[in-house]
Amino acid sequence: MSEQQRIYPVDERLAADAWIDRDRYQKLYRQSVEDPEGFWREQADSLSWSKKPATIKNTSFASDNVDIRWFEDGELNVAHNCLDRHLDSRGDQPAIIWEGDDPEDHKTISYRELHQRVSQLANGLKSLGINKGDTVTLYMPMVPEAAMAMLACARIGAVHSVVFGGFSPDALAGRIVDSQSRVVITADESVRGGKQVPLKDNVDAALTREGTDVVESVLVVRRTGGDIQWHEGRDRWFDDVVDQQPTDCPAETMNAEDPLFILYTSGSTGTPKGLKHTSGGYLLYAALTHRTVFDYHEGEVYWCAADVGWITGHSYIVYGPLANGATTLMFEGVPTYPSHGRIGQIVDKHNVSILYTSPTAIRSLMAHGEHIMDDSRRDSLRILGSVGEPINPEAWDWFYRVVGNSRCPIMDTWWQTETGGHMITPMPGATDLKPGCATKPFFGVQPALVDNDGKRLEGATDGNLVILDSWPGQARSIWNNHDRFVQTYFSTYEGVYFTGDGCRRDEDGDYWITGRIDDVLNVSGHRMGTAEIESSLVAHQDVAEAAVVGYPHDIKGQGIYVYVTLNDDVEPSDELKQELKQWVRKDIGPIATPDVIQWAPGLPKTRSGKIMRRILRKIAANECDGLGDTSTLADPGVVEDLIEHRHVRT
Ligand code: ATP
Ligand code: MG
Repeated sequence: MSEQQRIYPVDERLAADAWIDRDRYQKLYRQSVEDPEGFWREQADSLSWSKKPATIKNTSFASDNVDIRWFEDGELNVAHNCLDRHLDSRGDQPAIIWEGDDPEDHKTISYRELHQRVSQLANGLKSLGINKGDTVTLYMPMVPEAAMAMLACARIGAVHSVVFGGFSPDALAGRIVDSQSRVVITADESVRGGKQVPLKDNVDAALTREGTDVVESVLVVRRTGGDIQWHEGRDRWFDDVVDQQPTDCPAETMNAEDPLFILYTSGSTGTPKGLKHTSGGYLLYAALTHRTVFDYHEGEVYWCAADVGWITGHSYIVYGPLANGATTLMFEGVPTYPSHGRIGQIVDKHNVSILYTSPTAIRSLMAHGEHIMDDSRRDSLRILGSVGEPINPEAWDWFYRVVGNSRCPIMDTWWQTETGGHMITPMPGATDLKPGCATKPFFGVQPALVDNDGKRLEGATDGNLVILDSWPGQARSIWNNHDRFVQTYFSTYEGVYFTGDGCRRDEDGDYWITGRIDDVLNVSGHRMGTAEIESSLVAHQDVAEAAVVGYPHDIKGQGIYVYVTLNDDVEPSDELKQELKQWVRKDIGPIATPDVIQWAPGLPKTRSGKIMRRILRKIAANECDGLGDTSTLADPGVVEDLIEHRHVRT
C-alpha cells in the first residue's frame, strides 16, 4: 500500500543531541547480540548495586528446562535506585506531577517528598506484618499513592500485584487469592471522566468471595470522601497508618532475581496470565529502554498516559522514569474529559516533552475531528510514543500531524507484559519511521520469523514472531504456574520464545506487527493479518474504528467479517457498506474484500483498550453461547448489541 511506503527520515537536529544515533545504534546492537554478557555488564553499571553482579546471564529456553536468570549474584534495591540515589543531585526536582481528573486538580511531588512518603508507607506496611517476600495487592486510582505503594513494597522486598481499578470484585478476588495477599491497598473511590468508581465497595465485595480470608488489612486512601462501609479491625485509613511512621526506612537488600511484582496480561486472547517479574534485570531494562527509546534528557517532563494497572504503567510511569531521575506525569482521568482536547491542554499546562499513548486513545479522538486540538499549542512536545496494538497508518498520521504538529517522531513500541519493556521500536535519533511499523529490535533482542512448523524464514517475509534469546526484562514465570509459562511461550517452537504475534519483515529489515497469530485469516489459501484490512478501513473518512475476523465460509474456507464503528456524524447505510467493500478491494486487492460488514456502535475491548477479536470471532461464527473468558471485558453492553445485530447467514 502506498501508505506503507512513506518514510520519515531521522531529524538530524534531534539526532545530534540524542543518546543513540544511527552509528551508535548499529555498534551497540551488534555488541548486544554478539557479546550479550559484555554489553549487559557495562549497562548494569547504570544501576546502583549493593553487590555488583559477577555472573551476567544464565538463561535456558529449552522446553524441558526453562530457566531465566540475569545478574543472579547481584544485590540491589529497586526503590533505592528509583529514589535514594537521586536525593543528592535532584532531591528538589519534581519526581511526579499529578494531574487530576478535574483540570483544577494537580500537584507536584519532589524526589525528596516521594522518598519520605515511600519510607513512611514502607514502615506502615511493616507495622501491618508485611515482610520481604510477602505479596500486597493494589487496587487503586491513578493517584501518587499508587506509585508510592509500589515503591514501598519494593523498598521492603514485598511483591506487589497491581489490579487495574476498573476490574470487577470477582476479577479482583481471583487475583487476591492467586497471590495470597494479606494486605490490600485501595481508595474510597476513584474518579474518571467526572464519574466516581466505588473501589472500596468493590474490595468489600471481593473479600466476601471464597479464599479471600487471607486478607488481614485493607488500607484505604481518602480520594473523594465518598460514603463507604467500614470493617472495624480490618480497614485502616492510609493516612492514619502512614503519617505517624518514621521517615527513615532502610531499603532491604534484594537479590537481582527476587520477585518485584506479579502482573496480569490484558486477556485479549484468553484467560489473563499472572507474570512474575524480578528485580535487577527488569529495572535495568525498563530504565535503559525509557532513556534511549524516548531519548529522555534531564529536566524534561515525560508523560505516559497509561494506567499503572498495566505493564506500560509499571515500566514507563513508575520504574523506568524514576530509575532515570525523570519527572513523570501521572494523569488520573481520560483523554476525552472534560473536553476532547484534554491531552493537548495537559501538554501545554505542564510543558510535556514526551507523550506516550495508545492507538485506541488516538482513534477515540480522531472520531471527533481535528479541531479538537485547536485550544492547545503543544509546542513543548519533542517525542511521541504508541503502544498496545498495531497503530493504523491513518491514526499514526493523525497523531503525527494533529497532536505533534508534524514535528515529533513517533516511537511505535512493540512489546508485551511478558517482555517487561520495549522489544521492537524505533529510537528518535537512529531510526527512519514508517507509519504503522515498529521497525527495529532493541539492544539484546533477536527477533526471528518462523513458519507454522517452526522453520526459520529469512529475508522479506511474513511469519510468526519469536525471540531467539533472553533479555534482562523478560518475565521469569507465571506466578504459581511454571508449567503454563513453559506451555504458553516455549513449547510451540523448541528453544525460542513464542510471542503469539504475527509479523512481516520488509526489504529494509523492518518489522511490522500484523496482529495476533490466533487472528490470522486464511481466505482461499491466502494468509492475511487483521491489521492491514483494519488499517485500510480506518483510512476511509467515515470510519472511526474497525475490527476484522474470519468466519467459516463454504467456498473460501474463511470469509472476512468486519465490524465497523462510524465517525460521530455519519449515518449508516447499505450504500456505505458497498462503498467500504470496494474501498478495501481497491486498496489491498480482491482477496481482501469483506464478505460481511456489521455496524458496531462500539467494539468489545479489554480494560486496557485492546480489541478482543476472539469474542468477535465467536459472534461472527454464530457461537454466542460460549464467549470464553470475559472477565477483562470493559463493557459487556457492547457485546449484547453486537449479538443482537449480528449477520445470521442462511
Ligand atoms: P493476553 O496475553 O492476555 O491475550 P495481551 O496480549 O493483550 O493479553 P498485553 O501484554 O497487554 O496483553 O499486550 C501485548 C500485546 O499487545 C502484544 O503481544 C501485541 O499483540 C500487542 N501490541 C503491543 N504493542 C504493540 C505495537 N506497538 N504494535 C503492535 N502490537 C502491539
Ligand atoms: Mg499477550
